[in-house]
Amino acid sequence: MINAQTAYVAIFGNPVAHSLSPQMHNAAFNHLGLNLAFLAFKVNKAAEAAVAIRTLGLRGASITIPHKEAIMGHLDEVDDVGRAIGAVNTVVAQEDRLLGCNTDWLGVVRALEQVTELGGKRCLVLGAGGAARAAIFGLQNSGAEVFLMNRNQERGHSLAAEMNCIFVEWQSWDRLEIQLLVNATPVGMSATRDQSLISAEQLKGGMVVLDMVYRPLETRLLKDAATAGSICVSGLEMLLHQGVAQFEIWTGEEAPVEVMRQALVESLANETD
Ligand code: NAP
Repeated sequence: MINAQTAYVAIFGNPVAHSLSPQMHNAAFNHLGLNLAFLAFKVNKAAEAAVAIRTLGLRGASITIPHKEAIMGHLDEVDDVGRAIGAVNTVVAQEDRLLGCNTDWLGVVRALEQVTELGGKRCLVLGAGGAARAAIFGLQNSGAEVFLMNRNQERGHSLAAEMNCIFVEWQSWDRLEIQLLVNATPVGMSATRDQSLISAEQLKGGMVVLDMVYRPLETRLLKDAATAGSICVSGLEMLLHQGVAQFEIWTGEEAPVEVMRQALVESLANETD
C-alpha cells in the first residue's frame, strides 16, 4: 500500500513504455514487504532525470537508452567501473548526493556464470554500443579474451582500442575458434525479428551463446544455437541480474531472485506484441 512514507525508485529513458523494470522491482519490493515503489518516466534529456531524482527525493534510479552516457555529467560522482565502461545505468541517492554506477556488466557476467566459467575463454562480442562496452568490461574483468565485431568498422576499431580488445572482421570467424558469443546488437528483435548476424552453420556444440535481445525470448540466434548444441543464455537472464544488483544497491537487502525472474517471465508472456 502506497502511503506518505513510501520511497520511490524510477527508470528514466526514451522510450520507456516497454521497460520490464517496474514489474521486476515492484515484485521484489512487495515480496520483502518494503515500503518502496518503482515508477517509469519518459524524459527527453538526461539532465531532466537528474533534476527529477533530486527534486522528488527518489531513493535511486535506473537509467536506460539513450541517457546512460549523458547522465554521467549530471551526477555528483561516478564510480571507477561506470567511468571505465563509459555508461551509468544505476543511480543511488545518498545524503543529497547522486552516485552513478553500472550493473549491466554484472548482468552479463552473472548470467553467463550460471552455465560456464569465464576465465581464459575466447569470447566474441557483436556490437560496439553501450551494451557491448558493459559486456567487454565484464568478460575482461573475469579473465576472458575478448574479440569484437561491429557493422561500422570505425566505431568497432575505436572501441577495441579504447577497451584493449581485438577488432575482427566478419570473415575471420572460422579461424577465431570462438567459445563464447555475445550478441550486443538489437538484431533479432522488431524489424529484424527473424534475423541473426551469425549463421546456423557457424555455431557449434559446446559453444556458449548469450543474446542480449529478450523480445522474443528465443531469438533466431538462440534457436540456431540450440539446434547446434550450444549452451544458450537468454537476454532475460542479463536483464534479471543487472536488476538484482540494482535492487541490492538501492535497498541493502538480498534480492529475491526467483520472484524477480518470475515477474519478468510472466510480463513477457502476457505481452501481445
Ligand atoms: P546501441 O548503443 O544503439 O548499439 C547498437 C549496436 O548494434 C551498434 O554497435 C550497432 O552497430 C549495432 N547494430 C544495430 N543494428 C544493427 C544491424 N542491423 N546489423 C548489425 N549491427 C547492428 O545499443 P545498446 O544500448 O548497446 O544495446 C544493444 C542491444 O542490447 C539492444 O537490443 C538492447 O535492448 C540490448 N540490451 C539488453 C540488455 C539486457 O539486460 N538484456 C541490457 C542492455 C542492452 P553500428 O555501430 O554499426 O551502428
